[in-house]
Amino acid sequence: MSNESTPLRIGVLAIQGDYAAHAEALAEVGAVPVEVRKPEELQGLDGLILPGGESTTMLKFLEKRHFFSALKEYCSAHPVFGTCAGAILLAREVRNPAQRSLGILDAVVERNAYGRQIDSSILMADSVLPGGPLEMVFIRAPRIIAAGAGVEVLAKREGYPVLVRQGSTMAATFHPELSTDRRVHRAFVETVASVARK
Ligand code: GLN
Repeated sequence: MSNESTPLRIGVLAIQGDYAAHAEALAEVGAVPVEVRKPEELQGLDGLILPGGESTTMLKFLEKRHFFSALKEYCSAHPVFGTCAGAILLAREVRNPAQRSLGILDAVVERNAYGRQIDSSILMADSVLPGGPLEMVFIRAPRIIAAGAGVEVLAKREGYPVLVRQGSTMAATFHPELSTDRRVHRAFVETVASVARK
């Protein structure tokens, strides 16, 4: 258990993808980032980020290293934030194509949902986070096509949720770690703090 003076230790799943940018973002908002590649490394962490990248590649690694169920167990009991491929891993159901997922976030996610023409884009959009419009970097992004009643929508794009929260689970279909604005990481770290310092 942490108190106000011990910094929060937050893991970043470091199998593949842009985990280094998340680690930097966490450090910028005062947390201690810890790269996680095996189940033992989850021990003692206050929270975890599942980064963007390629969800199928991450999934194959998790299954091959017998890490899938340990990760699922960790995510069901601790604050976790999935971005892009990480959000796909957290979802209850994945489509286009279907693939196994951790089932932590009560949402149905469609992969690569924006098509080839606009598969990557940067958008300024409103969110519930104070401080004005938020920059959102989308890269071959998934779309949250359905979400359960317990899922709070913090921001939308074209009517679909792009930033959500369900208890201490957060997910974004964009890449907040690639923008300089740290409001999203700060919101996650505050969530981690509220759980760790209970
Ligand atoms: N297209 C990737 C996938 O389906 C996600 C893209 C990303 O994380 N930027 O896993």
